Amino acid sequence: MKQILNQLIQLQELNFALSEQKTSNPEARLTQLEESINKLVEKLPEDIASRYQRMQQRAPLVVVPIAHINNTCAGCGIAVPVALVNEIRKSEQILSCQNCGRFLYYLENTPRRVPKAPGARVEPPPGIARFSDMALMLPKLAADNRDDAVKELAMLMTTQGFVEEGDKLGDLALRRESVISTAVEGGIAFPHVRNIEGGSLTFALGLKESGLKFGAPDGELTKIVFFIVIPTPASAFYLRLLAGLVGTFRTAKARNALLKCGTPEKMWQTLTSLTSGTIS
Ligand SMILES: [Zn+2]
Repeated sequence: MKQILNQLIQLQELNFALSEQKTSNPEARLTQLEESINKLVEKLPEDIASRYQRMQQRAPLVVVPIAHINNTCAGCGIAVPVALVNEIRKSEQILSCQNCGRFLYYLENTPRRVPKAPGARVEPPPGIARFSDMALMLPKLAADNRDDAVKELAMLMTTQGFVEEGDKLGDLALRRESVISTAVEGGIAFPHVRNIEGGSLTFALGLKESGLKFGAPDGELTKIVFFIVIPTPASAFYLRLLAGLVGTFRTAKARNALLKCGTPEKMWQTLTSLTSGTIS
């Protein structure tokens, strides 16, 4: 049964990748990705495949983890009975949330968003400040290859106190990257990790003037890297952030303005002003 669950998770990941690619590059040919999705669907038992597809038409999030803190379904937030949690941990059957019907799985160790200090601001700030911070701007990535760049940004999230376990975070992002590259034209990439427990959608931003081989469709080097962590409930909202960022940096003028920044302060200022009309 573990195998079926893994296939379901992989299927959902491919479907997310498909939506991401459609958002970031509407003209791209996606035949290969669509074929992989069809192959995976064929491997699943028929009843599970049809249930998956039915649910997926309603909402993109169909296979969700149980949140560790309070044993709730990460899809609908309703508590999962302890007996069911235990059965899922043994993963001998494919089991669903009794409230929303989503397939449930148990993740032993998920990186967690660090809880905010008591007394921290509760109201979300407007615009891009909802999703990032000056402390997460890196004007000169030290890395000179994709893997090290992803790990560097993941560690930045940890050292700046945003997410725990930066090393694991980096590995998870690279695993996602191996499904299909998140690099798009214009020298931008969006490596990311889903199913972070708690917190909100957050990104770190790194620049590499000389460029990195990130696997962009046309072989173009990547100079702007957004590393994004996505809590389960923000899965669909992530596509809106992605669309906003892609829209902002569609022009060479905007990309060059960012690439010219030599300090985190300047990067943050530039990012804030460039996104003021595209990200709310
Ligand atoms: Zn549920």
